[in-house]
Amino acid sequence: MAADGMHWDPVMETMDGEELRALQLKRLRGTLERCAGSPFYREWFKEAGFDPAAVFSLEDIRRLPFMDKDTLRGGDPTRFLTVPKDDVVRMHSSSGTTGQATVIFHTARDVEAWTELVARCMYMAGVRRSDVFQNMMGYGLFTGGLGFHYAAERIGAMVIPAGSGNSRRQIQLMRDFHTTAVHVIPSYALYLLEVFADVGLDPRGDTDLRIAFLGAEPHTESLRRRIEESYGVGAFNSYGLSEMCGPGVAFECPAKLGMHVWEDSFLVEVVDPGTLEPVAEGGEGELVFTSLNREGMPLLRYRTRDLSSIVEGTCPCGREHRRISRIKGRSDDMFIVKGVNIFPMQVEKVLLGVLGVGSNYQIVLDTVGAMDEMRVLVEVAGELWHGEVRELNRLRSRIMEELRQEVLVTPRVELVEPGSLPAGEGKAVRVLDEREHARED
Ligand code: ADP
Ligand code: ZN
Repeated sequence: MAADGMHWDPVMETMDGEELRALQLKRLRGTLERCAGSPFYREWFKEAGFDPAAVFSLEDIRRLPFMDKDTLRGGDPTRFLTVPKDDVVRMHSSSGTTGQATVIFHTARDVEAWTELVARCMYMAGVRRSDVFQNMMGYGLFTGGLGFHYAAERIGAMVIPAGSGNSRRQIQLMRDFHTTAVHVIPSYALYLLEVFADVGLDPRGDTDLRIAFLGAEPHTESLRRRIEESYGVGAFNSYGLSEMCGPGVAFECPAKLGMHVWEDSFLVEVVDPGTLEPVAEGGEGELVFTSLNREGMPLLRYRTRDLSSIVEGTCPCGREHRRISRIKGRSDDMFIVKGVNIFPMQVEKVLLGVLGVGSNYQIVLDTVGAMDEMRVLVEVAGELWHGEVRELNRLRSRIMEELRQEVLVTPRVELVEPGSLPAGEGKAVRVLDEREHARED
């Protein structure tokens, strides 16, 4: 069916909760049946004493063990295929943020379904044929490049496949071709602001940007706001993982009250990472996904390590696909200093709320004497860096005090020159753990 002005896929997007559950069950049973035909899953089911034909409700899937990155790592990745190898038309892999990258295979139908999902997301945020879409994500094995590329073309927007990096050229392209929408890693969007300043341009007045898709790494509401204000755009949170397809798993609608998980394509569970039991509705836990509409390599009960929760209530946009809250981080992102559990996003929330803080920061953990020390390196906004020392001292004390209140340890705060911290083209590395025990691992 054709888009109706508000929905790219009116049938799927306006389905009510009950219909969605029925569709999920039907697709789950189909997926399990397909899996039962593959040697890997036959063995997986057998070991778990699981009868795929005896699934009569969505909850029945809880009788299956979880899969995770370790399940996928090592060995021949084609063992997860549920189609003949010749049906595969594309491979992608994860970024390898937490170790060896995992490989994912797609059939032509998978690529088509994925394209439709991302088109649904982009259209929901307001992208139309008249837009010029600059994709500033890495092309290649990473799914953020091609995933958005095909979807934007499907909508009929003009795509600039800029890829990542080469910041001055990015700005040049935006200006020469009147880019209206971008897809960008949030830490890079902040960094790019410095480059705009270096070339004497203001993204608000000197570009036609109106939409930014922010994805691939955890980021705070404060960071979103800063990007919206400094670029003069509406920024939308885009969540996905290569194991489920890539971007297009969950996405913000214009209400921006959580990200709708496309439940026609994914079954979402939120589990306690310790007990692996489901958390109470609305409680925080680890996201677990089951693919419901993948042909080549469906994954069942895949543990993401991403921490989030289901947003309760109904969304003002009318879509009944359930929403997940902004990702707090991966469970592996958490670090412990002096016995206190800390997430990098807690630090980001504080920093970006303080006036005078620039575009980048890094957390460094050291051992000093026998003690942990947490240092937070913070780039200062340009005008302040060249200003009075007294002002800088005031900023430093303020950051220290606010961080202490948020994370309950007093970090050492070091203010550094704008642009001096490493800013890569890929996902930001927020924590450097130089502690003795970390080095020994
Ligand atoms: P890797 O797991 O190696 O980073 P992927 O490229 O598949 O490889 O990235 C998927 C992961 O990226 C997710 O599991 C999540 O941790 C992170 N991620 C993606 N989008 C977002 C987002 N919008 N917010 C927070 N984290 C995100
Ligand atoms: Zn909504």
